[in-house]
Amino acid sequence: MKGPADFCYAPVMATINRRHLLLGGAAVVGGYAVFRSLPMAGATEKFEVVRSDAEWRRTLTSDQYVVLRAHKTEWAGSSPLNGDKRAGVYHCAGCQQALFSSSTKYDSGTGWPSFWQPLDNAVATRDETALLVLTQTEVHCRRCGGHLGHVFEDRPKPTGLRYCMNGIALTFTPG
Ligand SMILES: [Zn+2]
Repeated sequence: MKGPADFCYAPVMATINRRHLLLGGAAVVGGYAVFRSLPMAGATEKFEVVRSDAEWRRTLTSDQYVVLRAHKTEWAGSSPLNGDKRAGVYHCAGCQQALFSSSTKYDSGTGWPSFWQPLDNAVATRDETALLVLTQTEVHCRRCGGHLGHVFEDRPKPTGLRYCMNGIALTFTPG
């Protein structure tokens, strides 16, 4: 559960376009964004479900907490939901908001549960800025602000999107 958040960069490196490139004002070195700034939920958004840090720690498992509330990324391939092909709905593990339908799930080959589209009004996004070169788009639960993963524009069909989710941040309800 201490996987580096930068793991999600790897699948998108080959498809970097101008939108992903930023020239920072500070020193530029090769490679990944070393000083990536983490977006903090709640800075400008208001959420329906608001809990104190102590409450989140009490209601989530430690693994859920470090992803949902501390923006960590689970190890690729660590979630049993990654290979799950059952029909059903994926919910936020923090507040039970319905987030994704299994009908939009696909095997992206990355080791993280991937979807090409969220349910209506289920998630929100914000840009992550990098001091050096890369930005990526963070995805969080619209209802509680819990960090879910990232979205990339590197898939052809049907939306061209890859919602790269942490399985530990999701719960699955068959049916
Ligand atoms: Zn939530």
